[in-house]
Amino acid sequence: MGNEGKGLLFLDPVCKHNIWGGVKLREEFGYQVEGNDIGECWGISAHPEGDGTIRNGEYQGKKLSELWTEHPELFGNLQYDRYPLLTKIIDAQDDLSIQVHPDDAYARENENGSLGKTECWYIMGCRENATIVIGHNAKTEAELKEMVGEGRWTELIREIPIRKGDFIQIDPGTVHAIKADTLILETQQNSAITYRLYDYGRLQNGKPRELHIDKSLDVITVPAKSAEESVESISNLPENALNQIYTCEKYTVFKIDVNGSAAFEQGYPFLAASVLEGEGSVNGTEVRKGDHFIIPNGYGKVEMNGNMSLILSTVEK
Ligand code: ZN
Repeated sequence: MGNEGKGLLFLDPVCKHNIWGGVKLREEFGYQVEGNDIGECWGISAHPEGDGTIRNGEYQGKKLSELWTEHPELFGNLQYDRYPLLTKIIDAQDDLSIQVHPDDAYARENENGSLGKTECWYIMGCRENATIVIGHNAKTEAELKEMVGEGRWTELIREIPIRKGDFIQIDPGTVHAIKADTLILETQQNSAITYRLYDYGRLQNGKPRELHIDKSLDVITVPAKSAEESVESISNLPENALNQIYTCEKYTVFKIDVNGSAAFEQGYPFLAASVLEGEGSVNGTEVRKGDHFIIPNGYGKVEMNGNMSLILSTVEK
């Protein structure tokens, strides 16, 4: 395969309107979408609720889901029945409702064969002294049920401090929520199954949004992983190297901070890449903050120049 940047698959993302969204994804990242309630950019997605479109080259105009089906060789001929990942940028201008996701086994049985949802967050930006909701304070299943039943939310919900450059893995069963003024890059399984546990008693159009208490109680892990184990700072990685920051059964995530030039071999089934900050080039093709692209299977040597930070992800063969 030619190495002139031609083989890169750039995506036109799908943006989402959310009551907690804002204007940053248009004004800072340049996504062409109207409205002052833009909460999510599904940058690399083949999900039916937001299937990205190839922006360039011989596959221009194709949906990512179509490309996955018609050209499995671009992704290393993997044994998955759909493109396995979903990469999003989330701009929260208000607190999100507190949620939990099921694992594959629970989702298969209770959600029409959907995948469960394991996800992880890289904190791209937040206010000073910011916090995030991760985990809970119930020690036993019985205590969890009691606290939920009695509405002892402030006692139950665990908030922990975060800073730009933190990485957070959210296994199925983890209670979690983003607070206002937080910008994140999310890498997750290709799934949209979410159970809403608590919405701070807020109303939308005069009514509370639906909660999924029973399903939440079914899937919440008790006790939760410790606060210390939940957040990891990755703000001091070596420059110009493809740093693996996390790997689990569902994905492997990398970060690269290019300052000058960097090169690595694309030896993975595929690499899904998002430019978080700055600008530069990939094998001669210009990229900037907000661009999302896939480096296909067999691409060979990847050469990056400029001043930019990217998060990349792939899956096991
Ligand atoms: Zn989630």
